[in-house]
Amino acid sequence: MDGVKPLLSLHNINMTFGGIKALKNVSFEVLPGEVHCLAGENGSGKSTLIKIITGVYRPEAGAVIEYDGQTYTHMSPVTAQAGGIQVIWQDLALFPEMTVAENIAFQTVIGRWPRFVNYRRMREIATKALNRLGVALDVDTPLKEYSIAQRQIVAIARALVGEAKLVFMDEPTASLTQSETDHLIEIVRSLSASGVAVVFVSHRLAEVLEISNRLTVLRDGALVGVYPVEGMTQSRVTELMTGKNFDQHVRAK
Ligand code: ADP
Ligand code: MG
Repeated sequence: MDGVKPLLSLHNINMTFGGIKALKNVSFEVLPGEVHCLAGENGSGKSTLIKIITGVYRPEAGAVIEYDGQTYTHMSPVTAQAGGIQVIWQDLALFPEMTVAENIAFQTVIGRWPRFVNYRRMREIATKALNRLGVALDVDTPLKEYSIAQRQIVAIARALVGEAKLVFMDEPTASLTQSETDHLIEIVRSLSASGVAVVFVSHRLAEVLEISNRLTVLRDGALVGVYPVEGMTQSRVTELMTGKNFDQHVRAK
């Protein structure tokens, strides 16, 4: 993918929480339509980086954020959302008592016309987004009747309604079974094929290697490096994430 202009490019990102340097001069780049894994052990700064990109946190002075042709010193949630950046958080932030259609179309329909909800339009929007993902959920069913994996799909459908260009998935497989994970991986592939860039956050090595084109590794808030996934092995990724020479450790036993 040499020569492709990045969709997102971050430089000099620093973030401190009460004396803990959560991010130390990190750079990060996402190409249009790629699946990019952001990997690192717990506490390495993955979620903090996503929160900076989506405008939840403001990075320390000196940060440069280039997104879709614009340059920013920090993002705001409104700028991020208007620019087509969507996040599927681990805890999903959905509404279990509301129907599938209401959850998917919430920002679009309810958000804009709080006193008047066009149910027919809302169901159409939800059905279209679910069809794009190749899943048939009943849009009139309350979300609480579906599994975590199915709710995950609802969250992705909602991101698509927002005309996403860049979707972050923060540890989306943490509570999924293997077959649910496989389905999610298929969905990520089809998103990428339709031109949406996906940043997939995980510390599970097998899925990191299976799903992504490129890999950025963080360790203790610092960038370790950016790697093509082709030819990468699980032990090499472990070594990059932990800083320990895993191969030699195994050989020494
Ligand atoms: P990851 O997502 O890779 O597990 P995080 O970005 O959540 O890591 O956290 C990076 C570091 O910053 C950790 O040491 C964590 O405890 C700290 N941290 C994250 N968010 C906060 C916060 N809101 N307040 C204080 N410390 C935080
Ligand atoms: Mg996290």
